[in-house]
Amino acid sequence: MLGKLETVFSYMAHFMLLSWPEKRPGILFLTDSAGKVVTNMEMQVGQSWNPNNLDFRAGSQLCTETHSSVYHALRTGEIAVHTSEDGELVFGAFPLKEYDGRIRAVIGMVAPQQEIDFDLASYMRGLESLIRMGYDAYIQHATTEIIMKLNRFDNTRDLLEGLIQQIADVIQKGHCSAVKLSETSMLILPEFHTTEVLEGEDRPYQITQLAARFAGIPITPSVENDHRTVILPITCEGKPLYALFLHLLPEDNLQYDERDVAFLQEVGEKASYALWRTMVADDLRRDASKKDLLYQLMTKIQASIDVNDVLHEIVSSIRYLYPHASVDLFLTVETNATTPVKPLSFYDDEASTSTRAYLEGSLVMDYEERDGVKVAVLAAPLLGKQGIYGVLQLVTDWTVFLSPQETEYISILAETAGKAFENAQLYQQSRNLIRELRLINEMARQLNRSLNLQEILDFVIEMLLETFSTEFSAILRKQPGTDLFEVISSSLAECQGRSIHAEVSPISDILSSKQALLLVPPGSEPISLSLLPCLSHMSFASLMGVPLLVDGELGGVLIVADSRHHFFSFDDYKLLEIFGQHASLAMTNAMLHTEVERMVITDNLTGLYTRRYLNQRVQASLEKDSFGSLILMDIDYFKKVNDTYGHQVGDEVLIQVANLIKRHIRESDIPARWGGEELAVYLPRVDKATAHAIAERIRTYVEKETSPPVTISCGLAKWHKERTGEISVESLFYLADIALYEAKNKGRNQVILA
Ligand code: GH3
Ligand code: MG
Ligand code: MG
Repeated sequence: MLGKLETVFSYMAHFMLLSWPEKRPGILFLTDSAGKVVTNMEMQVGQSWNPNNLDFRAGSQLCTETHSSVYHALRTGEIAVHTSEDGELVFGAFPLKEYDGRIRAVIGMVAPQQEIDFDLASYMRGLESLIRMGYDAYIQHATTEIIMKLNRFDNTRDLLEGLIQQIADVIQKGHCSAVKLSETSMLILPEFHTTEVLEGEDRPYQITQLAARFAGIPITPSVENDHRTVILPITCEGKPLYALFLHLLPEDNLQYDERDVAFLQEVGEKASYALWRTMVADDLRRDASKKDLLYQLMTKIQASIDVNDVLHEIVSSIRYLYPHASVDLFLTVETNATTPVKPLSFYDDEASTSTRAYLEGSLVMDYEERDGVKVAVLAAPLLGKQGIYGVLQLVTDWTVFLSPQETEYISILAETAGKAFENAQLYQQSRNLIRELRLINEMARQLNRSLNLQEILDFVIEMLLETFSTEFSAILRKQPGTDLFEVISSSLAECQGRSIHAEVSPISDILSSKQALLLVPPGSEPISLSLLPCLSHMSFASLMGVPLLVDGELGGVLIVADSRHHFFSFDDYKLLEIFGQHASLAMTNAMLHTEVERMVITDNLTGLYTRRYLNQRVQASLEKDSFGSLILMDIDYFKKVNDTYGHQVGDEVLIQVANLIKRHIRESDIPARWGGEELAVYLPRVDKATAHAIAERIRTYVEKETSPPVTISCGLAKWHKERTGEISVESLFYLADIALYEAKNKGRNQVILA
């Protein structure tokens, strides 16, 4: 340990020059261990002396024959004196040795022979003690310098980096490292500083070696490993702070000596206060930033309902405060988190520290073995007012010690996360509620606006797609009297009109459990809807379905499906039920509506159309067709039937006549009850002759098949756009009525053409 040669030389030269006879020229120089000049100085103060052709500039080689005193000193390790060939100059060389005998440098001098009237060799031997004094002064100064510099640092990291670098600069052998100590003087390995060059690895080789050597052993001052490792704990008022290490690389064929150890001890002792001061300052700063972070978190929670935001903040602040720990958040609740969040599973390892923290609802700290490495695990539950939402977990090297204040702080962070969850959940719930209300409102409006079933169902499908962003949705209606379910509205048009049997899954599941939320776990067989050929190219991992009750009876099913896993949540399912209720209501309404419509256009007694409906149909035919015929019929002497058999029988006869009419006309003809016992049939696009034949046929059947027997009189009118021109409904009826009147007059039971 000779420190920085130039600095050492300047200290030594100071003492040497004190003994140099006044007013004699000479040059004092320093060479390295290869004999190359490092620096030089004039021995006669203020006088420049330049011995002929010699070059003492830095870098010039002095270990040659000409200057063989340096050569000899380097070779023998002894003081060497030599006179130049011309006898003009005398050279002296003094080797500077390490304790192990290695020659690190040579101090040389040259002076004119004529000025040296004493024995240079003896003189130089006498210098030895002065050189040592110079060296001691250097060490003293270097130590003071190091300690003074330490006072400038305000944080431990910079201080230690500076300290080990300066120690290494002075010692000039191997490397210097500092590793944090626990209260029991154990190494806290993640917290180290070293002058060893890091090559991408977490921990350099030497530190890893030290870790293995001192695992579980309290650090005391010692020299180990055949003087190749020096260990010195720095303590302040009995409290262990850091351990300083001097260590050599395997290829360094060197040893540390007493001077190295003494120097390290001196520096270590003197640095302890400055180190303690920065460590305390760091703690204070960390405390302040912890409070700051906590405050920021609280503000964030107040200001944001975004749980992701809060989780991000928590994870990143813990990573900042505990840079050597790996931080994980385990959650039991669903989130769409982008944060590094993992699901908390109880199946992997019953006894894991995190599981225990979750089950016990309090912070647990324990050691675990992971991949064969012992680690310290700290797990804090995410506590809310209404439950526990997961666990915050820190994994560190087992040597890292977390004080009660630290664990308390982590607990608070975890609780903060728990509250954030609770808030977010409440918010989500209220949003879902609003979403439901909006939907109900929207559907109610649509239902009121339209009585068209198809329109409403298509609207339900549209809303389903919009609400769930799902790939497939369909409404299927049970076909009356069968077990088939027909697709009556779907997000895929090609499914329209297709049917699935009730016994086929998933229809059977929906029907048997009155509901279905099928979520296929990843890796399992997808849900098949392949009976719908239009879906054969799709497979579903998530499916929901609800039965539709139409007028209290099973009327159909509503299905939504998606190929993505776990696509639907339970909240989605509840929403689907609301859709189902509306679809059911729409189908029930539409059914009732059809019935009412039928009732409006149908006569109650006879089942024939009403006069109003007949009028409408005649009007429509007059507008779009080019010809048609109208038969008006009146039962003959009907009053007599009533009088003879009673009104009841009269009604029955009326029904018999109506049925005969229905039976003997075509689908496209419109039979109606025109008045009390007056009936009519309108025959669109039927000419007069055909209509006459039909009227005749009906008249004959009535005469033959009624009981008690009655007859009818008929008046027939026809229209033909080309021949008779435009005609109104009223005039057509008027013409038929005239003809009917004539039939009565001519003896009844006959057909008269207008
Ligand atoms: P005709 O037409 O041959 O001149 O003799 P009519 O006895 O049928 O005379 P009219 O057509 O003027 O009388 C209609 C009668 O039919 C009056 C009423 O008592 C009876 N009537 C009308 N509507 C109904 C009904 O819905 N049920 C019953 N039972 N009788 C009805
Ligand atoms: Mg009548
Ligand atoms: Mg009559």
